[in-house]
Amino acid sequence: MHGGEWPRVVGDLSLVMSTALPTPTAARPEPGVLTMTAPRRGKPPRHLADLTPAERAEAVAALGEKPFRARQLSVHYFERLVDDPALMTDLPAATRERLAGDLLPRLATPLRTLDTDRGTTIKTVWKLFDGALVESVLMRYPDRVTVCVSSQAGCGMNCPFCATGQAGLTRNLSTAEIVEQVVAASRSVVHGDVPGGRPGAPDRVSNVVFMGMGEPLANYRAVLGAVRRLTEPAPSGLGMSARGVTVSTVGLVPAIERLASEGLPVTLALSLHAPDDALRDELVPINTRFTVGQALDAARGYAASTGRRVSIEYALIRDINDQEERADLLGRELARRGKGWVHVNPIPLNPTPGSKWTASDPRVQDAFVERLRAHGVPVTVRDTRGREIDGACGQLAATTP
Ligand code: SAH
Repeated sequence: MHGGEWPRVVGDLSLVMSTALPTPTAARPEPGVLTMTAPRRGKPPRHLADLTPAERAEAVAALGEKPFRARQLSVHYFERLVDDPALMTDLPAATRERLAGDLLPRLATPLRTLDTDRGTTIKTVWKLFDGALVESVLMRYPDRVTVCVSSQAGCGMNCPFCATGQAGLTRNLSTAEIVEQVVAASRSVVHGDVPGGRPGAPDRVSNVVFMGMGEPLANYRAVLGAVRRLTEPAPSGLGMSARGVTVSTVGLVPAIERLASEGLPVTLALSLHAPDDALRDELVPINTRFTVGQALDAARGYAASTGRRVSIEYALIRDINDQEERADLLGRELARRGKGWVHVNPIPLNPTPGSKWTASDPRVQDAFVERLRAHGVPVTVRDTRGREIDGACGQLAATTP
């Protein structure tokens, strides 16, 4: 935000709400309680992006159309980023209606967009088919375009410093509901709705981070499907590099091991936030199931089998986890598992409404970083883009229709 102005509401489509179903929401969880299985609710409509290329051909054939139409639809959706079936002029009108009606249902309606950082950071609140709300954040940098996507409406992991965690888990998103967040972001970049482009800058989304709402590895199947759609070459998918995709997790150890075996070199980020079990049990309640040692071993194993350096996320919370002893302990735990496999991303805490916690003093943060570096661990302090629009890590709550 600049010059103390309030963030600008660039779109308010709340009229859409007047015809909406009641918004499904979860109850606020009791402290420490985990929700490992998402409530069963109505399934989102099936969409082209849920299907493999072979399944798309079958679905098209089942509608009595020629299988090659599947590829044409894929070109429109993934390559040309066409939203309006009327523009799919290579399909005869009746065919177009039938195919688009069946395979390209509207999955998400933008309710509100908020921007900051001179328009280069945009948060969108989406209403899904059943009224559930999720948020995505588009960040345009000179050399890359990153979208932060949600994988669940709400989250069951109940981390006390995270706004989403405090909202509880409403439901899992489908593969297509995740992919659509990226496709919609790409559309707005291509259509020039996002400032910050310059000659040579990417005109498509280059990076996707699963750091929006939800625990991606608790919605494994849909998230893996989304990663496949993002990385399959066009027109089967968006053709992104797997290296540009980051899956961030609280540390669901069996799912990390499974992800390591998929042969997809996506970047893994582990939200550690404390190097000792006593404190991590409180900050990241899943630690009561999988300890710091188990999570770090799984992360180390992920680096070994994928060749990808793992990121450790560490929200620095004043007087809670920012002591030099903890930097030392973290440095030792990482260094004793080898060299070159990991780097640490300290994130100044983004305070959430009503939170008793705040970010560390900048000098304390610097001392923490220095201690960590003394163990030979690479450290990059994460920027906090989008803070003013509640679009930074841990601030996504989607409670404002
Ligand atoms: N469930 C996943 C992804 C979601 S959040 C996970 O926990 O990794 C992405 C990152 O933002 C996580 O590292 C999360 O711990 C961090 N985060 C959550 N709340 C935050 C806050 N208030 N300030 C800073 N980072 C926060």
